[in-house]
Amino acid sequence: MPFPPARKAIVDAIEVGKAARPVMARAAQRIGDLVLSADFKQRRRAIVALMTAGVYAICIVILFYGGERGIFDPGWTGVLALACGSVVTAFYAAIRSGFNLRFSAPSLALPQAICAQTLVAAAYMIAGPAHPSMLALAAMVIVFGMFEMRTRYVWLLMRYTLVLMGAVMVWCALHDPLTYPPEVEVIHYAILATVLPAISSLSAQLRAMRERLQKQKAELETALEKIRRVATLDELTGLPNRRHMRELLAEHIARFDRGGPAFAVALADLDHFKSINDRFGHAVGDDVLTGFADRARAHLRTTDIVGRWGGEEFVIILAGSPPADLDSGMERMRRSLRDTPVCADVPEIRLTFSAGVTPYREGESIDDVIERADKALYDAKHAGRDRSVSR
Ligand code: GH3
Ligand code: MG
Ligand code: MG
Repeated sequence: MPFPPARKAIVDAIEVGKAARPVMARAAQRIGDLVLSADFKQRRRAIVALMTAGVYAICIVILFYGGERGIFDPGWTGVLALACGSVVTAFYAAIRSGFNLRFSAPSLALPQAICAQTLVAAAYMIAGPAHPSMLALAAMVIVFGMFEMRTRYVWLLMRYTLVLMGAVMVWCALHDPLTYPPEVEVIHYAILATVLPAISSLSAQLRAMRERLQKQKAELETALEKIRRVATLDELTGLPNRRHMRELLAEHIARFDRGGPAFAVALADLDHFKSINDRFGHAVGDDVLTGFADRARAHLRTTDIVGRWGGEEFVIILAGSPPADLDSGMERMRRSLRDTPVCADVPEIRLTFSAGVTPYREGESIDDVIERADKALYDAKHAGRDRSVSR
């Protein structure tokens, strides 16, 4: 079937838009995929690795500055800069090649942090009079780690840092007590031993908070889904309720107005339903309503939508327009109700229904079309029930 003109214009506009998508944006996307990976998680890990590389680059510049000015040991400066460059390249390569995926923690955050702290300890040794500033770097590595690592690993990293830095401070105090006076190193260590556990415990709290938030988010989604179900579905029959059917009707009308397909509306009302309630009880009446809903779901076309309008009245949105075609689904339901009891527990109940069917006409409101279907339903009741009347 050819597209109606309005719809075709929209489709054409989308195609033109797609073609006009800036070439630059697509090139940027391709470069991003190449440098960072097209996989979302790997991309995130590569970004973190590159951010770390940026920090290393700044440290290397500082190292060379210190070496140049004679603050740092010039011989060891080059070695340390090379070590920094190698570490950062190795981890980026491990992530980009997918080698990291072999490990249970593919972010490689712990090994990266262990390497970083080892390099910080080395920098502490060669930094001469500037060595206290390296303590800030040791704290920074733990802060980086707390966003990427499990709490257990953060504590492990903290213990490793304290042991390593303690050993380095002792070694420096013994070998170069002028630059690393033991009494000052004791203060440095005390500060480190206070700050690092504090950051690590913050990390634990942060993770607990994140887990709580994730749990709350999942609970909210479940509650939202439940609310959505309650708001749109009829509790007894599971069919769309009146409010939802009005929304669906509004959608059909809007689509029709944009050149979409024709549709019709049927109102179906169970015949003498009150007497079923009176004779067999309200519970059986409920079973009959559920049985009718099941029958409608089974025998209407997949393109038709049936909902409970209220009480023992149902509304059906029928796709298409010719009356004969519209009626076939309801005729199938009628035959099925005649052949098979609607309520297995009370097989003597023979349920029939009357229906008023009317096509939607351009420009009219939901209430207009429902009112005409209701009039047709009234006609069907007056003509003896168990039938459909079209208007
Ligand atoms: P008619 O053929 O003219 O439609 O007769 P009727 O008896 O079907 O119509 P009437 O409007 O007199 O009665 C409808 C009955 O449907 C009355 C009401 O108690 C019953 N009913 C409405 N909602 C429910 C429900 O959820 N469960 C049950 N069991 N009965 C319901
Ligand atoms: Mg009724
Ligand atoms: Mg009725």
